[in-house]
Amino acid sequence: MLICHTIKEIKSFTRQAASQGKTIGFIPTMGYFHAGHLSLMSEAKKICNVVVSSIFVNPIQFGPQEDFTCYPRDIERDKRLAEEVGVDAIFIPSAEEMYPPRFSTFVETKKITDCLCGKSRPGHFQGVTTVVTKLFNIIQPDMAFFGQKDFQQAAIIRRMVEDLNLEVKIILVPTVRDKDGLALSSRNVYLTPTQRQAALSIPKSLALAAQIVENGERDPAKVKMAVSGVLAAEPLVEIDYVEIYSLPHLEEISFLQGEVLLAVAAKVGKTRLIDNLVLKIPDNKVNHPK
Ligand code: AMP
Repeated sequence: MLICHTIKEIKSFTRQAASQGKTIGFIPTMGYFHAGHLSLMSEAKKICNVVVSSIFVNPIQFGPQEDFTCYPRDIERDKRLAEEVGVDAIFIPSAEEMYPPRFSTFVETKKITDCLCGKSRPGHFQGVTTVVTKLFNIIQPDMAFFGQKDFQQAAIIRRMVEDLNLEVKIILVPTVRDKDGLALSSRNVYLTPTQRQAALSIPKSLALAAQIVENGERDPAKVKMAVSGVLAAEPLVEIDYVEIYSLPHLEEISFLQGEVLLAVAAKVGKTRLIDNLVLKIPDNKVNHPK
């Protein structure tokens, strides 16, 4: 597996692969790999000739009070895990390589960034869209793989790709969870055993929502209330948001139909966790309000 620290090196690798007619699959990450990252890589492996991942803890997507400096890092372990899944090259740039001294250009997607994590973390998605644009330009992948766990992120990238006519297909990969239901996240290492137990209220609240929708509830406010109830019952959990939006454009709705996103963000201690569920409301279960 090739390790590249400079833009020049990774460009030369991907341009050569492209010139040989190979399709390139790309997985941008911040490293500290878990089975979620590895599933994106395995998916890429299945449908692309060459798989490239990047590890970059992107400073411009962290707010001033956020965990940039203590974000978990273990590059050697990441290299081993990626190699086991068959990744062909990893791009591990320094902050200076990505943002040289006079760097002044940012990419911003509006509207779809006004809700959910975009609302709670001002500037975060501008950091994401800027770095992803740079990475797409550097790697020039045919396909890029994103996890459903960060649903809004993937939706924003899709919007950006369409709006800017970028030549890359965005593929969404289902959320990988631990046996107990907690969505895998590099940030889970921050949790104490007691906090981790409390964090299980997040997947439990989503499962309850799925159940009550299955039972015929079509009022988003009632579903959100049920989810908030489960989370609020856990003293260690502080709710950031519980929201329901229509798909694919993340628009507000007053009645559940078609495909909707139920998204949750909560703090457990100092650790901010997110999770979501895509609910497919069956037509035959629609009970229109009287
Ligand atoms: P990160 O390193 O947290 O920036 O994540 C890199 C990629 O992995 C993003 O596309 C995430 O959505 C994806 N990812 C993170 N956690 C999971 C998970 N539990 N299941 C699937 N994909 C994930």
